[in-house]
Amino acid sequence: MSNPFTTALLRWYRNHGRDLPWRHTSDPYPIWLSEVILQQTRIAQGLAYWERFMEQFPTVETLAAASEDEVLRQWQGLGYYSRARNLHAAAKQIVAMGGFPKKYEEIRQLKGVGDYTAAAIASFAFGLPHAAIDGNAYRVLARYYGIETPINTTTAKKEFAAVAQQLLPARQAADFNQAMMDFGATLCTPTSPKCPECPLAEGCEALHSHRTDVLPVKQKTVKMATRHFTFVYVRCQGEIAIMRRPAGDIWQGLWQPLLIEGDVNGEKVWHELEEKGQFTLLAKNVKHVLTHRIIYADFFLLEVAVKPSLPQGYVWTTETDLCRYALPRLVERLLEHLPSSTMPAGAQR
Ligand code: SF4
Repeated sequence: MSNPFTTALLRWYRNHGRDLPWRHTSDPYPIWLSEVILQQTRIAQGLAYWERFMEQFPTVETLAAASEDEVLRQWQGLGYYSRARNLHAAAKQIVAMGGFPKKYEEIRQLKGVGDYTAAAIASFAFGLPHAAIDGNAYRVLARYYGIETPINTTTAKKEFAAVAQQLLPARQAADFNQAMMDFGATLCTPTSPKCPECPLAEGCEALHSHRTDVLPVKQKTVKMATRHFTFVYVRCQGEIAIMRRPAGDIWQGLWQPLLIEGDVNGEKVWHELEEKGQFTLLAKNVKHVLTHRIIYADFFLLEVAVKPSLPQGYVWTTETDLCRYALPRLVERLLEHLPSSTMPAGAQR
């Protein structure tokens, strides 16, 4: 027998649930794809990416057979590129396993798949009774039950998992998980929840104790680190110098023009280039915010008649071919600052 929370939530979902294309299938591949794309991404933006991915890589086999560059290229603009690399690696894992795993524990073994995504796939594709707890579910449960444990702690993970698992109706696991997500995303929103029209209002602790603005509680995290990048778009007769970013830093595997990051070697490169041509400042102190750091970037254009020698790792490509390379969003912003008459085709997306 369902509890009042679950009954009211499911009733609300039947009338107000969002109609999304991956909810019309029980094929785990499109479901998994949607879950990975929608981590840290709004549905409106994620939907277009999901459609493009499904068109480009209609099956897990086609995704596994693609090159990393192709996958990153399709992912471009979504950020958090490790998700794309993990997606690609997991597609290869699935193919090697002979098909998509059907058990929660096996799904959880896939690269980049955590507790939440594994539970979402297990319930949506296979109807398995696993509660999927995302940010929406944390918020709804924290408010409804007045739970003050900071949601970004391991204690909370266990506590909320136990609460959600108890509320989950075994035969309607998919509906329950989807309902929690939609309810948190559209009604019990982070700021200004729509309490007057909420079907859970009667039993909501946060509402009755006037704590909707303080719940859920989050523990303060470390201060954002700041980095300063100087990008130089070195152009020589229609070609530009680019480099693939190495492992162990942000944007691994993506491409960038010459980067000088404020070290001694950088100063040397700068002075050598100064003798070869004219620097034009395109933009200064462009602020770019990532999860744990803020980058301030200066953009320069350097036109040279003869290709200068550059630090190791740089290659030359034509500007028309630049659109074939996966670029971080910050580099796209540099391209947008180029004088329009000289902007490469890829920058006019
Ligand atoms: S009453 Fe308000 S805070 Fe409580 S669950 Fe409903 S929308 Fe959220």
